[in-house]
Amino acid sequence: MKILVSEVGPRDGLQSIQSIMPLDAKKKWVTAEAAAGVTEIEVGSFVSAKLLPQLADTAELVRFARRIPGLTVAVLVPNLKGAEAAVEAGAHKITIPISASESHSLKNVRRTHAQMLDEVKGIVTLLKDVPADRRPKFEGGLSTAFGCTLEGVVPADTVVALADALMSAGCDEVGLSDTTGYANPAQVRDLVRRVKSAVGEHALSGLHLHNTRGLGLANVLAGLEVGITTFDSSLGGLGGCPFAPGASGNIVTEDLVFMLEAMGLWTGIDLQQLMAVRQVLREALPSEDLYGFTPDAGLPLGFSQEAAP
Ligand code: ZN
Repeated sequence: MKILVSEVGPRDGLQSIQSIMPLDAKKKWVTAEAAAGVTEIEVGSFVSAKLLPQLADTAELVRFARRIPGLTVAVLVPNLKGAEAAVEAGAHKITIPISASESHSLKNVRRTHAQMLDEVKGIVTLLKDVPADRRPKFEGGLSTAFGCTLEGVVPADTVVALADALMSAGCDEVGLSDTTGYANPAQVRDLVRRVKSAVGEHALSGLHLHNTRGLGLANVLAGLEVGITTFDSSLGGLGGCPFAPGASGNIVTEDLVFMLEAMGLWTGIDLQQLMAVRQVLREALPSEDLYGFTPDAGLPLGFSQEAAP
């Protein structure tokens, strides 16, 4: 069974650190990870360069990455303007993040849920006019779906209602993000089941998990049990977590691929080659910590990877 590992380090990892990675290093990173077998990479975000100077070269990186054969180039877009820029640059997949916690949404993007849904409708209208061969897949990403640092508990009903509203507004699919690292495996199983039963089995395929409290891979396993087939992760867990020293930011791509392959699931990613890509990060970001148990410990004796199914 194929599991899609979607690398989000060039976006989520880089936006969480102060250092700015030069465009050439980003190109090297994306190229090397694609060569290791990663087939989807979120390369950046179309936000104002004033807000996130780390991602100011997103358009250039998209134009570069879309020439890599077999690679799906994904980006975040906070609004219609970002979506226009993403289409212009030629992204294959765009995700608009919508915070399930309205307080978080107001603080982050100064918009209510209703205003964000209007933004989504604007993007759907934009995409209708894009020729099919240039039209990106459009995902609604529900951030803080498992809890919020401002509101605490985010009711599952709110997440389900928003997922439903996003699909009704014309998104191709929805994803659930544990932005704050609050999720636990029982909650993952429950929320995924509820959202799937509201929007349909195929409208929810992906989880975006953080490892803030060390439950990242346990949450992956819970997701697998309820039919999730796409997981976001970042190489070396880049970004770390300012609230939890020693914890990676996103779940670590290397550890995720190791777990999946060791379980007999197929990722198409060569682990040795993937771990070698860390060198690109070490050279370009010498002051940043890299995380991951598998790269530190090495692969177990006798470990072999699954051949393509
Ligand atoms: Zn994240």
